[in-house]
Amino acid sequence: MPKNHPHAPHDDIVYPAAIPFVLVHVACFGAIWTGVPKQALWVALALYFVRMWAITAGYHRYFSHRSYKTSRLFQFCLALLGQSSAQRGVIWWAAVHRHHHLHSDNPEDVHSPPHHGFWYSHVLWIFNPKYGKPDYSAVRDLTRFRELGILDPNLYAPAALLAFTLLLWGGWSMMVVGFCWSTVLLFHCTFFINSLAHEHGSQRYLTGDDSRNNFLLALITLGEGWHNNHHHYQSSTRQGFRWWEIDVSFYVLSAMSWFRLVWDLREPPEAIVRGERPVGRKVLEKVAAELAGTFSVEAICDHLPTVPELREKAEQMFEAGSSLDAIVARAHEILAQAVAAHLGDKAAVRA
Ligand SMILES: [Zn+2]
Ligand SMILES: [Zn+2]
Repeated sequence: MPKNHPHAPHDDIVYPAAIPFVLVHVACFGAIWTGVPKQALWVALALYFVRMWAITAGYHRYFSHRSYKTSRLFQFCLALLGQSSAQRGVIWWAAVHRHHHLHSDNPEDVHSPPHHGFWYSHVLWIFNPKYGKPDYSAVRDLTRFRELGILDPNLYAPAALLAFTLLLWGGWSMMVVGFCWSTVLLFHCTFFINSLAHEHGSQRYLTGDDSRNNFLLALITLGEGWHNNHHHYQSSTRQGFRWWEIDVSFYVLSAMSWFRLVWDLREPPEAIVRGERPVGRKVLEKVAAELAGTFSVEAICDHLPTVPELREKAEQMFEAGSSLDAIVARAHEILAQAVAAHLGDKAAVRA
């Protein structure tokens, strides 16, 4: 395995920041001794949904994508509530997430099921020390806030404070069920967006990656399951583009905007929803290379596929969109170049 491969072993195997993650899982079994009181279950459910909202509306749509505006005070409240989920610091989370969009489903992508497999993309990547210090230069818009800079390195302080408060209030059962159970559920349902939402569901838009729309995931993650929509148009606050695409995080944000707690919420333009906008250069190159890659060099040297033949294949592989002609033309160019290079190599060997 090459040394720079994301799965490559590292000398510093113990990744201290991941230890609380393991401990909170183990602590869930404490319920064997504490029991599962009804009240603790209700608290767990409430803490799951409130903190899921803070992750999707706060960590994701606000801090990672800056898709709406709010006051500095409410921004801090969002960060604090999000960080009580024990998903590390707000700035760290945004930096890792921006990296994901920059390289989505390329080998450099931190969590990409087609490249690294389901379990690595779901959870194992967090044990890789390489991701402990992501590229903070990509989040200068966040690091300029002093209070966020103080909160971010105190990775688990808000979560520990919440756990301790629950312990004082409701005893060990409240701590185990109310805090640990809801936190673990929250971890994995959030992580499903990195794993399942890049594997299972439908692809409405050509995004050059494996992002999917998944109704069930959208329900349990308060709207994040419309992940193909999101990869298609990241700057929209709203991720459920159609009326039936339930997006609870957006509904709550909309209600908050009536009271001016948040403002300038963004919705996707109609042309974006209808998929009429031509795909960008990066996506076009990636999809054209994918189309061209379905032909072997030997096969194309015998017969270079014609544009109509390529188009037929493209229609089978991708959603027909306004960019299909451009993709087919580029794939044809790539194949013609591959033939020329192959024949050139052969001639060089003969000489
Ligand atoms: Zn995103
Ligand atoms: Zn994604």
